[in-house]
Amino acid sequence: MSLSVSCTVNVSVEDISVNSLEKAALTGAREAGRRLLQALFELVERAIPKHRRCACGGRLESRGRVERELMTLVGDILFSRQKLRCLNCGRAILLMKRLVCGRDVWLRWG
Ligand SMILES: [Zn+2]
Repeated sequence: MSLSVSCTVNVSVEDISVNSLEKAALTGAREAGRRLLQALFELVERAIPKHRRCACGGRLESRGRVERELMTLVGDILFSRQKLRCLNCGRAILLMKRLVCGRDVWLRWG
């Protein structure tokens, strides 16, 4: 598995110094880190098996997406997760809840 992200860093030619280049590199690294983390969240969500069922056996239907902001080591990021609802028992399920809550990564259903 491999992921690539890009970022743009602007540097003023008139104000060039080791310090200004260092600050630009750090700004770019933070932006690249945020983009990479968001791409990893999307990758994890895509890895979750598609045809899932609720613990009661009911079929699940999509109820849209829910946005969430997270404070991370690379800065605040905004990402969205799919929300599902069981057609049998009505249970609401947010994908990747365990991942966001800081527990084990949850890729398998049920
Ligand atoms: Zn159910």
